[in-house]
Amino acid sequence: PTVEAPLTLAVEDVAFRYPGSARAVLDGVSLTIPQGQKVAILGRSGSGKSTLASLIRGDLAPASGSVTLNGVPTSSFGDGVARCIGVIQQQTYLFNMTLRENLRIGNPAATDDEIREALAHVGLSNLVERLPEGLDTMVDEAGMRFSGGERHRIALARVLLQDTPVILLDEPTVGLDPATERALLKTFIENAEGRTLIMVTHHLQGVSAMDRVVFVEDGRIEMEGSPAEL
Ligand code: ATP
Ligand code: MG
Repeated sequence: PTVEAPLTLAVEDVAFRYPGSARAVLDGVSLTIPQGQKVAILGRSGSGKSTLASLIRGDLAPASGSVTLNGVPTSSFGDGVARCIGVIQQQTYLFNMTLRENLRIGNPAATDDEIREALAHVGLSNLVERLPEGLDTMVDEAGMRFSGGERHRIALARVLLQDTPVILLDEPTVGLDPATERALLKTFIENAEGRTLIMVTHHLQGVSAMDRVVFVEDGRIEMEGSPAEL
């Protein structure tokens, strides 16, 4: 299926249980996010945030209830969901190809100038200048060449280069220092004008710039509201 922006993301009375697991990870979760809204999802480790992100992305299908984009279940999109939702997963994926190619996934038309701008946004300009082969440097999947934080920022630059109506970030700033983290969140919020931004996070950094904060506790939405209300 294909759907076009504006996209309404609707999570309706969702329950989910991992195969072989005794109890539901999520239960009775409902959340409707209109196009352009900036939502922070907070909660303790193990509360179900990444599971909710996987359901939104359509990587998992709910046991009951539904997760839809303009009424179409996200789990029915297959790879096509990538045209709608740009994602940073907690575990970032880089591929065995050049840095340029890694950054162009999702936007094959991105020019070197655009790529350099995205890299500047994530604070990686110096790194690329230091590499003798620059954007032609081979990235290996095992990540020998780059640190965990650098790999994460490469993946963030990739999402910045994509033009998806929805951006879904699962702990995008993990492993970054506070100054880089602040700058990055600012960049994302500025770049996400008109785009839906859903950010899973452990802590309150950057949350005040969002429209809405949702607390997940023990597989349920415990509390939600604007940052000012909470
Ligand atoms: P964190 O803040 O540490 O990233 P989280 O809120 O993202 O935590 P989830 O990753 O959604 O939490 O996990 C919620 C629960 O589901 C945890 O108890 C976890 O152990 C369990 N879980 C996660 N992935 C799987 C899986 N593939 N199979 C079985 N159980 C899983
Ligand atoms: Mg998680």
